[in-house]
Amino acid sequence: MRDYIEFGSKRIDFSLDFSERKTLGITVTPDLEVLVKAPMDSSIDSVKDKLRNKASWIIRQLSFFLAFHPKLTDRKFVGGETHLYLGRQYRLKVIISDDVKSTKDDVKLKGQFLEVKATNKDGVKELVEAWYLNKAKDRFHQIALPLFESFIKRNDISEINYNISIRHMQTRWGSCTAKGKIILNPELIKAPKSCIEYVIIHELCHLVHHDHTQRFLDLQTREMPEWEKWKNKLENLLA
Ligand SMILES: [Zn+2]
Repeated sequence: MRDYIEFGSKRIDFSLDFSERKTLGITVTPDLEVLVKAPMDSSIDSVKDKLRNKASWIIRQLSFFLAFHPKLTDRKFVGGETHLYLGRQYRLKVIISDDVKSTKDDVKLKGQFLEVKATNKDGVKELVEAWYLNKAKDRFHQIALPLFESFIKRNDISEINYNISIRHMQTRWGSCTAKGKIILNPELIKAPKSCIEYVIIHELCHLVHHDHTQRFLDLQTREMPEWEKWKNKLENLLA
């Protein structure tokens, strides 16, 4: 069953299972799920009381995950609008030409402009999004491959193969499957390179530790001493 508690201004959703056990068990998963296992005879009120006692610990666990709030202001993809690429701001410049034969759809960075040539303005959004996705594919691999290679050497986990892919996720910058596949959110291409490195390193550390315990944090700090700075930057960037 699913339920929730309120703690301060925060709401914590959880799923609850009853099983043959003596104490309450709480797990926070990388998908931001709070899983609670309770002894068979416990009441929902007593479960909630115990969760409230543990609420600050749960929130701390949740906050380690790379959650972000999707942008509130939607882009309109009209000239003059600001768009981010690798942490820098570019002004959108839209050039529309009716001459379908000679105009080639095209997106490129030109000085401080993100210049889009299109045959009609309705196509601008799609062109820009496709451009971002292509850039994400190229740059993520350029950034991730050397990080991956030095990481597996340092941590002696050479049995793991390089496996990084890109997928749009509503609330996550990155994730990592049990089989060692790292998934990155293409929206990350809007963030500074060090933020992208931080997300990759965070997920690489999950190849060693699947939780967010102190061991995990120690490893992450060893791999990237300034990770907190880039984590904060990332959280403020698209919020
Ligand atoms: Zn994590």
